[in-house]
Amino acid sequence: MTQTAEAVIVGGGVMGCSILYNLAALGLTDTVLLEKDVLASGSTSRSQAILRMHYSNEVTTRMAWESLRLYREFEELTGGPSGYVRTGYFLIVDESDRQALEENVAMQRRVGVETDAVSMEDVREIAPMLAVEGNECFAYEPQSGYADPYSVTTGYARRARELGAQIRADTPVTEIEVKRGSVTAVVTSQGRIETPMAVVAAGPWSGPLLAKAGVDVPLRPLRHQVVMLRRPQDIVPDHPIIGDIVNDLSARPDAGNLTLIGVGEDEFVGPDEYNQGVDMPVVEAAFARLVRRMPGMAQALFRGGWAGLFTTTPDWHPVLDRVEGIDGLYMAVGFSGHGFKLAPMIGLTMAELITQGQATTIDISMLGLGRFAEGKPLSSRYSMAVMA
Ligand SMILES: Cc1cc2nc3c(=O)[nH]c(=O)nc-3n(C[C@H](O)[C@H](O)[C@H](O)COP(=O)(O)OP(=O)(O)OC[C@H]3O[C@@H](n4cnc5c(N)ncnc54)[C@H](O)[C@@H]3O)c2cc1C
Repeated sequence: MTQTAEAVIVGGGVMGCSILYNLAALGLTDTVLLEKDVLASGSTSRSQAILRMHYSNEVTTRMAWESLRLYREFEELTGGPSGYVRTGYFLIVDESDRQALEENVAMQRRVGVETDAVSMEDVREIAPMLAVEGNECFAYEPQSGYADPYSVTTGYARRARELGAQIRADTPVTEIEVKRGSVTAVVTSQGRIETPMAVVAAGPWSGPLLAKAGVDVPLRPLRHQVVMLRRPQDIVPDHPIIGDIVNDLSARPDAGNLTLIGVGEDEFVGPDEYNQGVDMPVVEAAFARLVRRMPGMAQALFRGGWAGLFTTTPDWHPVLDRVEGIDGLYMAVGFSGHGFKLAPMIGLTMAELITQGQATTIDISMLGLGRFAEGKPLSSRYSMAVMA
């Protein structure tokens, strides 16, 4: 094993690999990424992988929009596909959230996002499979879609390696060694790597690892379920992605006539002790709610599903920061159920923070850890925080 490196990244999910690639692209290639299992085996492997722009705050909207561009250009950047499929995205809220939706759309348009508030008639024309009502409001994003988390993660990893970075799977990090206020090494089950810089991107396992280094970050893993249905091809051949706040679900099409429904039940769990399958009562309730929105899905077949972990923070937005008081320690954690769409810009801005002292492409200062103690969390205009 390499005994020294300029920087060590902990975690081989989409974030760790994006950071590794972006560091290499900025010229920092004396790096090692350590993954306790295999690449893309954590939350990334469970992702619904929806790419949409509708958020209540500018920083996340901007990151999602710029990341969409990078997903579309992914092959030119990395040599491999991102699996981006354009489907369009509808956000659906009820009348009480009309003002919030309109304010969000206005902000997103200022940022440059291609989006609009649309009428019930517009929805019926663009997506006739959706049942919509006059007391509901809609935002539409024609460019949104989904991508493939495994292709993206391994694409970043492969290109980073070509540029000189090293990756070690099956190598759990047991401790980040800090002496006299500076990172000195990253300790693994297979030895020690001396380094002045460590980046924690360990998904739901980040909290305990940071705590061991004396850093307290309010992270709580939350179980989230994905139900898979096979569409009746003749009745619902396809559909756009929907973020349906009224029915408390998201749904996206997948290859093979599949539809993936994302449903949340507030169940905080340990990262290694949770039911990775779906609960049948949740499946039945999600199915019924989807049929309300897409009546043709009454003929759909249940094809299984899975559960994964959102690593939540109190405001459901990530912490992208250097650790105050420990030179050389950085974290990209707490993606709260919407990190995949942001991963390209997370990688770039973290790499800028690490190599240049601050992120220059997008100002990420409001995503610092200090916001919680200072009482400046980000806020959502909607009640369903994960949606926007
Ligand atoms: C069910 C579900 C649906 C989702 N849907 C969407 C969506 O539609 N759109 C969207 O944008 N986002 C979505 N997300 C969120 C998104 O998938 C995550 O935010 C993102 O994948 C997080 O990536 P990560 O690299 O931070 O974490 P992870 O993928 O968990 O990667 C962390 C890695 O670190 C490794 N690791 C942990 N501890 C150690 C250690 N001590 N030593 C070495 N390695 C370690 C783990 O094995 C893991 O591979 C969803 C998430 C889930 C669970």
